[in-house]
Amino acid sequence: MISRSQQIQDGDLPLAITVPIDIGHGLLVGGRQVIMMAGPCSVESYEQTRESAEALAAAGGRVLRGGAYKPRTSPDTFQGLGRPGLEILRKVADEFNLLVITEALAVEHIPIVAEMADIIQIGSRNMQHYPLLWAAGEIDKPVLLKRGYMATVSEWLAAAAHIEQRGNQRILLCERGIRTFDPATRNTMDTNAIALAKQISPFPVIADPSHATGQSNLVIPVARAAVAAGADGLLVEIHPDPKSALSDGHQSLPLTRLSTLYTQVAPIAAACDRELI
Ligand code: PEP
Ligand code: MN
Repeated sequence: MISRSQQIQDGDLPLAITVPIDIGHGLLVGGRQVIMMAGPCSVESYEQTRESAEALAAAGGRVLRGGAYKPRTSPDTFQGLGRPGLEILRKVADEFNLLVITEALAVEHIPIVAEMADIIQIGSRNMQHYPLLWAAGEIDKPVLLKRGYMATVSEWLAAAAHIEQRGNQRILLCERGIRTFDPATRNTMDTNAIALAKQISPFPVIADPSHATGQSNLVIPVARAAVAAGADGLLVEIHPDPKSALSDGHQSLPLTRLSTLYTQVAPIAAACDRELI
């Protein structure tokens, strides 16, 4: 039997309908609800993670993000807390009844991340790390696959097929911005890709306006655009004190902006007959 992704690539299924994915706690991604996933870029400390989770839960969020294994451009910057970071994330998430999404940077991280988290993130730089995709395909947890920042949409969907063909159907695609000619912003949110992936792939599509823009002042407007284009969820970086963040502070929303994020994106979701949670 050929997989759903193969059928799409062969052109047999021109307009797929998103198949909702169960991520736990009764939440479906790809259904009527648009799911907010938010938290710090990196887990830095218990307090920083707890403050972020508390604000997210107060705003109505259900999924906490936070990196423990960080893919950093320079080896001289903070590389993440590793396993203690996962422990902080799990403890804090349980306190507020939140699900956890966090990145597995290497094949050897898959078992521990699968044990400690609810959704496994594969980062942009690793989109074509095939052994990592195969390992993610063999576990029973949803996988969020970020688009490589220089990958085409068809390469992104082919990467998802690597996960799917190992047996894991619970894949969330994540558009996180691509590199374009213009250095005015860190990346460029490819809203075309959001709309296109929704039409040619069965997998739900999440948008990450934080990495797509690199500037906190652009996160909310670009989040609105992504939801208008059909995104099934958002992945947003927040921080209690962005100026002191150990990674990606300039693109992290202060916790006080979370309510604005919700109040500005919810009406866009409603206009698309959806509900932001
Ligand atoms: C992140 O989510 O913090 C991250 C490193 O993302 P990306 O892989 O999109 O750069
Ligand atoms: Mn980040």
